Amino acid sequence: MSTPTAGRVAKLRERLQEQGLDALIVSQPSNRRYLSGFTGSAGYLLVSDRETRIATDFRYFEQAAAQAPDFRLQPVAGPAFETWLPELLSGLGGKKVGFEAAHLPYATFEQMAAVIRALPEGERPRLVPAIDVVEGLRAIKEPAEIDVIQAAVDLGDAAFAHFMERVEPGWTEKQAAWEIERYMREQGGEAVAFETIVAAGAWSAMPHAYPRDEPLGEGRPIVIDMGVRLDGYCSDLTRTIVIGEPDGEFRRIYDIVLGAQLTAIELIAASMTGEQAHLLAGRFIAEAGYGESFGHGLGHGVGLEVHEKPRLGHGSGDVLADGMVTSVEPGIYISGWGGVRIEDLAIMENGRLRVLSRAPKIDQAKA
Ligand code: ZN
Ligand code: ZN
Repeated sequence: MSTPTAGRVAKLRERLQEQGLDALIVSQPSNRRYLSGFTGSAGYLLVSDRETRIATDFRYFEQAAAQAPDFRLQPVAGPAFETWLPELLSGLGGKKVGFEAAHLPYATFEQMAAVIRALPEGERPRLVPAIDVVEGLRAIKEPAEIDVIQAAVDLGDAAFAHFMERVEPGWTEKQAAWEIERYMREQGGEAVAFETIVAAGAWSAMPHAYPRDEPLGEGRPIVIDMGVRLDGYCSDLTRTIVIGEPDGEFRRIYDIVLGAQLTAIELIAASMTGEQAHLLAGRFIAEAGYGESFGHGLGHGVGLEVHEKPRLGHGSGDVLADGMVTSVEPGIYISGWGGVRIEDLAIMENGRLRVLSRAPKIDQAKA
């Protein structure tokens, strides 16, 4: 076996051994895709020390065979677990089989457990909750994954440039979001990575504002947070712009946020925890007097999902390491005035961050 997924399965087996597990049932869609190549919306993987199986239904037989050739197909007929789960778990009697406790719905777990309880004693595996097993592998990107993420970031940057060339103060927030999204789709993006945020004026004080039928206007902050999905991988970029002349308040706050971001990008290093990384920007903003106005985490991993490991924020013990891709996105939000957030994706290489996005940050105001 020499497919990219074969290498991932080998790493997963090492991890299972470390955690004392004999096998893992994988139900989370991105984890399923990462390990097998299968992109369908339904199915379970079973990875044991010897076998790799995929259970899916009629809609996906052909797709699973094509995308996941290293996995033996276990056909699923109908929703009744008793018709296929015993076969998927065959040979694992008495073994410890992990399930993805953060993702498997409780009702589904109950159904599985009932089917297992009904098996003859010697054929009954023990279901064990497992957390972050595949997510931990996904956090460290392979070179080919980094290439795809860079391509997604480049497309996002191009969409932002396209937007900046055309934007008018009379555009509504929704119109602005659509201009960005349309460009990303026309240039090969599969989908948006998340719902585009365009928020002007006081509305931008909400970090995750949704776009309205309100004009962008002039002389006030406009937060644009956008991402595209390309070959399954996400980009994530935030810029704050002003059309026309920004006021003194904007310049002051923008400088603090930019200073915090550049400081964090320069000083974040391998072996730091997500909390330590966060505090590099958090302290910078607090020392400038806006500690209460930066209420979210500094960043998050990006890959098959737009929010994945590592998490950069209060209480995060995720340890940063080479190969991780993370956003760095400090912000200051002032109710009634608006917000400023600046976000780039960066990769940890040789213990330091290298920024992947190139969208301009300063002097973006439309002339
Ligand atoms: Zn973002
Ligand atoms: Zn983000």
